[in-house]
Amino acid sequence: MSAAPLPPGSTVGIIGSGQLGRMAALAAARLGYRVHVYGPEPDSPTEQVAAAATVAAYTDLAALEAFARAVDVVTFEFENIPADSVRLLTGLVPVRPGWRVLDVAQDRISEKRFFNEIGIETAPWAEINSADDLKQAVARIGRPAVLKTTRLGYDGKGQTKIGPDTDLDQAWAAMAGATSVLEGFIDFAGEVSVIVARGLDGKIQAFEPAWNVHTNHILDTTTVPAPIDQSLAQAAIEVARKAAEALDLVGLLAVEMFVTKDGHILANEMAPRPHNSGHWTIDACVTDQFEQFIRAVCGLPLGDPIRHSDAVMKNLIGDDVNDWLAILSDPDAKLHLYGKAEARSGRKMGHVTRIAPRRVG
Ligand code: AMP
Repeated sequence: MSAAPLPPGSTVGIIGSGQLGRMAALAAARLGYRVHVYGPEPDSPTEQVAAAATVAAYTDLAALEAFARAVDVVTFEFENIPADSVRLLTGLVPVRPGWRVLDVAQDRISEKRFFNEIGIETAPWAEINSADDLKQAVARIGRPAVLKTTRLGYDGKGQTKIGPDTDLDQAWAAMAGATSVLEGFIDFAGEVSVIVARGLDGKIQAFEPAWNVHTNHILDTTTVPAPIDQSLAQAAIEVARKAAEALDLVGLLAVEMFVTKDGHILANEMAPRPHNSGHWTIDACVTDQFEQFIRAVCGLPLGDPIRHSDAVMKNLIGDDVNDWLAILSDPDAKLHLYGKAEARSGRKMGHVTRIAPRRVG
C-alpha cells in the first residue's frame, strides 16, 4: 500500500479517550497535527489535551459519521469498538489499523488461533461454552489453569484460576454463560512485551523487549533492559514482527509474552495500539511509542526507536498518585499524570519513569 503522507496541520481522529489517547495526542501536537478524540466520557484524559472532541457512545452511528467527516484519518487507543461502527468509518475515511486487526485482537480465541496459525506458540488452550467443555478441557490441559472471558477482559477482569480444588461447575457458572477460554497456567520465569510499528510502506521498527511485572493482574513495573539474553530478545522481537506482518498492520502492535523457565517464548495477548508496557519509551528512546504510532498512522517515515537510557516505569494505581510531590523531588524520576479526577482503586492514574544513563553492552 502506498499513499501520500498526511501533512502536519491535518486532523487525526482517535477513538477512545483514555491516557493512551492523551499521550498520543501530545505526540501528534508536537508534530503539528490536530487530534479530534471520540469517546463516551466528558472531560476525558484525551479531551483535556485534544483540539476537538466528540462525546458519544461507540454505537452512535450518526455521531461516528460526523466524526469521520471531520478528520483525515482514524485510529484507535481502545480496540473494543463494535464491528458495525468500524465498518461505517471504513467507508468514509482511512482507518489505520484496519478492521481485520481489531477483529482478531478483540477476542482471545481468534487471537490465539491467529498466533498458532502463523507458528507462534501460546499456552495450551481450549474454547469453553459449557461446564462439560470445561471438564474435558481441564482433563486435557491439567491444573492449574486459568479460565478467561474471550471478550472485554483486561487487567485480570473476567479471569478465574482453576486450582487443585476448584469446583468446575462453579467456575463455569461464574462466567455467566460467556464464551471463555481455558489456558494452561504457565509457571513463567518472567513476562516480556515487544511493541512494533509498521508503516504504510510495510517498514517495521521494533522497540526492544521490556520486562513486565504484574501485581493483581495489573502491570506494576516495566524494566529495560530486560534481563534476558540476546537470542531470547531476538526471538521475542520476531514474534511481534511476524504478527504485524501477517496482519498487514499499519500502526502499532504490542505483544505480551511469557518467558518459560526453559527459555521459550509463549505469546499471551496482543493490542493493536500503544501499550502501557511502552510508556518507558517516552523518557528513554529517541522516538517513543506515541510518536511512532502517529508517524505510522499518518503515513510518515518511522523514527528511530533506539533506547538512550535504562529505565524502570512504575504505574501509579489508585492512591499511589498521592505521592506526586515526592516523585517530583526525585531528580531521576519523570512524572506523567493522566488528568483523572477520581483515584478509584485499581485505576491507572499516572506513571513514573526512573531513568539512568544507558549501561554499555
Ligand atoms: P491477561 O489479562 O491475559 O493479560 O493476564 C494478565 C496477567 O495474568 C498476565 O500478564 C499474567 O501475569 C497473568 N496470567 C494470565 N494468563 C496466565 C497464564 N496462562 N499463566 C500464567 N499467568 C497468567
